[in-house]
Amino acid sequence: MQNLDPRSIILLAGIMAVLMSVVLFFLRRNYPPSIKGLTEWAAAPALVFVSTLLLGSRGEIPDFLSIVVGNTVLLVGLTVLYFGSQRFFGLAPSVRLWSGAVLAGVAVLVWTHVEPHYGNRVLVMALLMSLISFSHLRLLLLHGARGFATYLTALALLIQTIAQAYRFAAALGAPADDTLLLLSPAQTVLVTTYAICMMMVTIGVILMATEKLRAEFEHLASHDSLTGALTRRALIDACEQELERGRRKQHPMSLLMLDLDHFKAINDTHGHLVGDRVLVEFVARVTALLRRPDHFGRFGGEEFVALLPETSPAEAMIVAERIRFEVAAAPQPACTVSIGAASSDADDTSLDTLLARADAALYEAKAAGRNCIRQAA
Ligand code: GH3
Ligand code: MG
Ligand code: MG
Repeated sequence: MQNLDPRSIILLAGIMAVLMSVVLFFLRRNYPPSIKGLTEWAAAPALVFVSTLLLGSRGEIPDFLSIVVGNTVLLVGLTVLYFGSQRFFGLAPSVRLWSGAVLAGVAVLVWTHVEPHYGNRVLVMALLMSLISFSHLRLLLLHGARGFATYLTALALLIQTIAQAYRFAAALGAPADDTLLLLSPAQTVLVTTYAICMMMVTIGVILMATEKLRAEFEHLASHDSLTGALTRRALIDACEQELERGRRKQHPMSLLMLDLDHFKAINDTHGHLVGDRVLVEFVARVTALLRRPDHFGRFGGEEFVALLPETSPAEAMIVAERIRFEVAAAPQPACTVSIGAASSDADDTSLDTLLARADAALYEAKAAGRNCIRQAA
């Protein structure tokens, strides 16, 4: 550690930061606007790079520019990074609180410049940096998706919080004279830690944005754009998986095929837009009645399938009746649903067979006058 040159480390960290900024800037341009916070995330490493240049030019440029402006830009960069994460999670950035904190920090920086006191300056900088990192970490743990991207970013912020808290504790009672460029091994470790953490955080947020984009695409591909129910393809995949699982665990599985009654008449009477709204409300109503492990998908037009894992034929009838009742009780325009239920108990039931049986039961329900349920034999 002794022969690591802290200036080179600071410069290298800055170059890394600016590269990350460029990457984030391109993500911002190419990613859909639903992924928020990229502007702030792109700006933050650029600000950190500027602060690095200023702090690293210590002795070659006026102290005010290097120390006061350099540290201010660093604080602003870290705050903007935090704002980016807040926006990424759909929250309003806490601008007032943190501008206040940064302004207080700037006041101390100016004061310790006018009346030079190294110890006090480090105290305030370390405290603010530790607080920002901690708030950022807390935000991630509260709102971040569980996964590598979040954990990597959170780990970097945790290390940063601890390192700056340590720096704060070590600066208590530190001398008034300046020792930044005559770094002790402990300080070299701090600077290196800071550089690595900054890099980890920027890589982490890039991964977080990419992960969110992947999740959005996956959702688009597997969910019906009008109603939000699963697509036919996604539903069939889920059915195959559940059937396989049920076979292994010897659990029954039930399937409901639902078809809205005289839906064409709703379109003809009220128009297609109202018809669409009825479909959306129907899906919302049914989804609210289902349990977490159940799947609900749009099979086509106004025909839907509910997949009920670990559900016996008798239980499936109870669920079906609840759906039929709730749909019929819904406000205008009046709309009812017919349901065909089928269950897999035999070991060799294939999905096609199960669907065909549910479909036949649905046909019976329609023939029996609609707004009713029939169960496959
Ligand atoms: P039944 O009781 O026998 O099921 O009669 P039905 O009128 O519901 O059945 P039919 O299959 O004759 O008509 C289904 C209608 O659903 C026709 C089609 O225009 C309408 N439909 C299918 N998809 C949509 C959609 O996304 N939006 C709207 N508004 N209507 C749709
Ligand atoms: Mg219909
Ligand atoms: Mg139909």
